[in-house]
Amino acid sequence: MNKLAKFQKRLAKEYPSFKVEAKDDCLVLTGEANAYMDKVRAGQMAAKTHYFYGIINDIKLKGYKEKPIKAPSIKDKSLDGLKVDVLVVGGGVVGCAILRELSKYDCSALLVEKEEDLAMGASSRNDGCVHVGIDLHKGSKKLKYLIRARAFYEQMCKDLDVPYHQDGQSVGFTNAWLRLPVGIFMRHQAKANRVPGGAIVMGRKKFMKIEPRLADDIKFGVYLPGGACTSPYELTVALGESAVKNGARVSLSTIVESMKVENRKVVSVATNRGTIFPKVVINAAGTYSDVVADMMGDRFFSIHPRKGTDSILDKAAEPHLSKTSTTVYPKLGEYAKTHSKGGAVMPTAERNALVGPDAVEVPDREDYSTARESVNAVFAKQQHIIRGLSQRDIITYFSGVRAATYEEDFVVQKGKWTSNAIEASGIQSPGLTAAPAIAQDVAKWAGEMLGLAKKKNWDPIRKGPIRTRELSDKERDELIKKNPAYGHIVCRCEEISEGEIVDAIHSLIPPTTVDGVKRRARAGMGRCQGGFCQPLVVSIMAREEKRDLLSIAKKGEGKLFFRHTKEDR
Ligand SMILES: Cc1cc2nc3c(=O)[nH]c(=O)nc-3n(C[C@H](O)[C@H](O)[C@H](O)COP(=O)(O)OP(=O)(O)OC[C@H]3O[C@@H](n4cnc5c(N)ncnc54)[C@H](O)[C@@H]3O)c2cc1C
Repeated sequence: MNKLAKFQKRLAKEYPSFKVEAKDDCLVLTGEANAYMDKVRAGQMAAKTHYFYGIINDIKLKGYKEKPIKAPSIKDKSLDGLKVDVLVVGGGVVGCAILRELSKYDCSALLVEKEEDLAMGASSRNDGCVHVGIDLHKGSKKLKYLIRARAFYEQMCKDLDVPYHQDGQSVGFTNAWLRLPVGIFMRHQAKANRVPGGAIVMGRKKFMKIEPRLADDIKFGVYLPGGACTSPYELTVALGESAVKNGARVSLSTIVESMKVENRKVVSVATNRGTIFPKVVINAAGTYSDVVADMMGDRFFSIHPRKGTDSILDKAAEPHLSKTSTTVYPKLGEYAKTHSKGGAVMPTAERNALVGPDAVEVPDREDYSTARESVNAVFAKQQHIIRGLSQRDIITYFSGVRAATYEEDFVVQKGKWTSNAIEASGIQSPGLTAAPAIAQDVAKWAGEMLGLAKKKNWDPIRKGPIRTRELSDKERDELIKKNPAYGHIVCRCEEISEGEIVDAIHSLIPPTTVDGVKRRARAGMGRCQGGFCQPLVVSIMAREEKRDLLSIAKKGEGKLFFRHTKEDR
């Protein structure tokens, strides 16, 4: 019996209504599922065969119609007829890191992002951990790129003037008898995966010095001093700004709608702002990367979106804060089975505590809804490790969606069938960590395809915004003397001045919404979540951009802040 027939037999046993065939090196699944998880499990079964190049899962869910992609309403011809050397689709951390690498070459590079700002997908909806990769599989692209990126991540954050805190990561265990096997396993993994700083196994007493609020049932722990964190949206915007500073272009509110492919080559790309003619197309479209791959004539993988929900705690909850990114594994088996790291309690780059995420398979690629059950589940688990962790301290929670492939690895390669396509697709966790190294390879391939030379005057430095709360009294006084706007505090929770908001509004890739200002200047990120400062931010935006107050939205194209009163009408 051949490999396909063997798998067909196995699948028919579990899911008789699903069909599978081999097409162009890939396994293609079709049929109708009663439950969404049946579709996901069939895809996972197919991936486990390792017989085929990729898995295309076209199983439909009974009674479910896939939600259309969230698209900008704007339609103009501002990009019509534009010829570029390289087009990057997607303005997350991967697309922006690629654009920055491309800006090292003598070429015209354009990034298009369908949302009104960068970092609107997974790249602003994650934990911000710069992982050590102890859990990653040998031979995976995840591990390859993580190891490479870790070698220069800290320096890159310095060059881009974004936060980088090496707090370390810890794993606590509740079963004392596991100490010996865990020690052997973790030390072996740390060596094999070249974990910076290695893995240090320690008894409760020593572990308490690292994590003073350890719960009573933690018997021992593993400390990974190389773990770090950054601000994911600040990093993404900084990568984009660095690229723009070096000559690349970014077009926001620009959605790729279709592509014309001739003789296995993308010849043109249709967007809501006209048709672009690129020589090379790079797919960095996150949860839509299989859809964009299909447009490029290069589909050989499928994304099954996996949602995660995180809670952010008030800074006043500091006594509860874990000092490192800390998680608990009551059983060793759990560690090996899960596709996510299982959530943790960790300090963010802004020194709040973050609790989460969980991992839930969802059919919708942009399902950012938050469920109480997710928050409860993560807190219930993490309460086993940090004493006094309380949901009362939550100031906000959010969800992000991981772009998981059935193979559970990144798709980073030149197009399989399309000669001028490059895939930087299916970048789930640890994509924030791996992105800068993925970008190096992708830009190198684009450079080779086009015979590009490197620029001599490329500048790695991007100066970040002034953060008055980080200045000494003397420095602040001097700044306020020069510009009193830095002395006018607009966001009281985060101590953000009007001067910082004005700087954000006039930054290299200017925000168009209040949330865009929030991502750059942190106004509205604190305890009151903008209740006090957002109307002030709106009025500063209206003044600086000479815009009608009534046209300014919180995010996207909806949710305006102010409306006409009855008297105005
Ligand atoms: C809850 C959660 C926690 C995580 N925690 C970590 C962590 O701690 N550390 C870590 O290393 N990784 C983490 N990750 C993973 C990390 O966030 C992702 O790997 C990374 O952000 C992926 O970046 P991206 O650029 O590929 O995707 P995205 O950020 O999703 O960007 C893709 C972009 O493409 C755009 N797009 C899609 N289709 C089109 C189109 N047709 N035209 C134009 N634009 C389009 C989208 O709007 C989107 O902005 C986490 C992920 C989640 C969800």
